[in-house]
Amino acid sequence: MSREPIIRFDRVSKRFGDFTVLDNLDFEVQPNEKVTIIGPSGSGKSTVLRILMTLEPINDGVVYVGGDPLWHEQRGDQLTPAREAHLRRMRERLGMVFQQFNLFPHMTVRRNLTEAPRRVLGLSRAEANERAAELLELVNLGNQADKYPGQLSGGQQQRVGIARALMMRPSIMLFDEPTSALDPELVGEVLKVIRQLADTHDLTMLMVTHEMHFARQISDRVCFFDQGRILEQGPPEEIFSAPREARTREFLHAVL
Ligand code: ADP
Ligand code: MG
Repeated sequence: MSREPIIRFDRVSKRFGDFTVLDNLDFEVQPNEKVTIIGPSGSGKSTVLRILMTLEPINDGVVYVGGDPLWHEQRGDQLTPAREAHLRRMRERLGMVFQQFNLFPHMTVRRNLTEAPRRVLGLSRAEANERAAELLELVNLGNQADKYPGQLSGGQQQRVGIARALMMRPSIMLFDEPTSALDPELVGEVLKVIRQLADTHDLTMLMVTHEMHFARQISDRVCFFDQGRILEQGPPEEIFSAPREARTREFLHAVL
């Protein structure tokens, strides 16, 4: 059984000045797969997600989403309008949830959800509101649509962030430490929603998290990042119970 990966990094390098963040990275994710990236701070985890969201260009290699090249080697190329349009279409396949919730503070929860799909997908107000109501129900916030972000707890805001990412009906969801900014007692409600999403939706999920218990439950595969490379990867039982690499063992020892 060989399927085409939905995400593929083919010898991707990313540098900031002299500093190499990603070093000839090969990385694939299969459709519907739930993959967790773990690893020390600065190892390039967020950069992988930001490249997929087209928030960062790369210096070398090719990134494919759904078989289409996302962002070739930059080499200082100008972005043409045609290329901008291509990138925008590619970006619509992905939804991202950030550590900082990034909600618009001056908009109600409903408008935070409906703004992009109305503008980008051309949904009518009624269509967008209906979709928003369904998704707020899914994240257990059915009765909060008229509130402003500032009136919600961090856990509620992050669940709005998840619903907002789902509004565009992405086939891939990216989560970058979605619970790291939360008070400990609010972490569980967010993880529960992500777990429920993984169980009930045909979604490819790529997550960065320090919640190792959660990663173990939810992941088909765990990748340990170290200095811009995947040092070790495998099923969670293997990575958490019997890591082969000393660096992985040290990291797990420090965080568990
Ligand atoms: P992680 O998410 O694993 O902690 P990141 O992918 O955010 O790591 O960053 C990897 C490295 O790249 C870090 O050392 C960070 O300081 C550096 N970096 C990230 N973004 C930039 C930037 N815009 N300019 C310069 N260095 C950056
Ligand atoms: Mg990060």
